[in-house]
Amino acid sequence: MRDASSSPPLYRGRLAPSPTGHLHVGHARTFWTAYLRAREAGGALVMRMEDLDPQRSRKVYADAALDDLRWLGIRWQEGPDNGGPFAPYAQSKRRAIYIAAWRKLLRAGCLFACRCSRKDVESALGAPHERDGGKLVAEDDEPIYPGTCRHFTGHVPQLPGPTAIELEAPGPINWRFRVPDGEAIEFIDRNLGPQRFEAGKDFGDFVVWRRDGVASYQLACVADDAAMGITEVVRGADLLKSTARQILLNRALGLDNPAWYHCRLVVDHNGRRLAKRHDALSLRALRQRGLTPMKILSAELPVEI
Ligand SMILES: [Zn+2]
Repeated sequence: MRDASSSPPLYRGRLAPSPTGHLHVGHARTFWTAYLRAREAGGALVMRMEDLDPQRSRKVYADAALDDLRWLGIRWQEGPDNGGPFAPYAQSKRRAIYIAAWRKLLRAGCLFACRCSRKDVESALGAPHERDGGKLVAEDDEPIYPGTCRHFTGHVPQLPGPTAIELEAPGPINWRFRVPDGEAIEFIDRNLGPQRFEAGKDFGDFVVWRRDGVASYQLACVADDAAMGITEVVRGADLLKSTARQILLNRALGLDNPAWYHCRLVVDHNGRRLAKRHDALSLRALRQRGLTPMKILSAELPVEI
């Protein structure tokens, strides 16, 4: 906690690409916004490579992301390429930080061990068209957990030996955060205004540690934003619901929330969100076609309202 006489923290923003494909024009817009906001605030910008998933992350994409963003004209003060006081800046090298956060949540009674596969969760919920008013769960979001293993609080039937509370490491099992059903999570987004999500309805008990031995995006993100002193998170609006989850994690971990600034998503001409498979709109392809950074950043593109 800061005392009243100390000055407010300097603005610290971050760029957090995940190297599972080439960046596209939507990423370029969001990262450019993050860059401008840090620059206008006279603050620092951190490059953090979100290469948590060993199955999907590729070094070639990580290298390409740094190269594409530099080509756009974006500069950062700390990162995997130029180091800094909070190194390492690649999530694959920060496992000890995530285990400490997992342990803190476990000791606080916020987690339970879950033996369900994603398929189990989906079949317990019924076919996609039967839930969520016919809207499919976003591809990058997790389905609402039906609560199958919620009662596994004090013991871990899948693991021999100590009770959950005595565990030092997660083991080969999924761990979920138990959300406060019915609680409204509200925050003011600096770009999109007031936001409200209901725990248990808009999102359910979410994974914080995966059975394949990797922290979830949600856990790694809050642990890193706190450890790196991030004061404002600029990212795509597809992560608004993740922000509600991360507010719950910050509260459980006793961490302050950063400010939030979510950018509208660029969509293709059929109104679909851009994905890494939109190769024609990747920065690589646009560069090869001779487009300039100015052209990419200023072109009229449809956005999701
Ligand atoms: Zn389960």
